[in-house]
Amino acid sequence: MGITNNIGEREAHDELSRENSILFGKLKNTLFRLRRNYASHLVKVLHELRASAICLGYSLNVAHEEGNEFTLNLWSYRKLMDAVELKAQEYGLKAVEVVEHDTSKYCSYHGAGLERYPRGVVSCPSGRRLHSDLNGAPDILKNATNSVVSTVKNPFSFLVNHNLAAPINGCKP
Ligand SMILES: [Zn+2]
Repeated sequence: MGITNNIGEREAHDELSRENSILFGKLKNTLFRLRRNYASHLVKVLHELRASAICLGYSLNVAHEEGNEFTLNLWSYRKLMDAVELKAQEYGLKAVEVVEHDTSKYCSYHGAGLERYPRGVVSCPSGRRLHSDLNGAPDILKNATNSVVSTVKNPFSFLVNHNLAAPINGCKP
């Protein structure tokens, strides 16, 4: 009886392991396709906008190599950057990695200290309130090129799925 149970448990365990590994493989493939679709769409649009270079911000505070495929909210950041850089090469675009350090601490327009609240939103003492990424992006550009942008117009935002990338809320292009 005990032996039968042990064999049954082992078979059940093996079956679970097989299922796990199949699911894990599918998830890895899905993430690969999402990264590829993201990179393709982003670089294609930037190419159409006649961009000559892409400044890719990266944080020193997130795991780039450590952990597993699913580090950082399902996006393995290093792999995502690699996908963008590879696609950029295809289009002849230069891709530069820029440290994001402190890009959300100070207002990119006035240099004043920012209050971060609620999550994802920064407020400047001048009353300016915007998404922290929209404050950080000009700083990333400034860190890379020393160019100062006075304002960000029509930020481009899109959702990616298995087959395509779709603009969000009519953001252009
Ligand atoms: Zn400001």
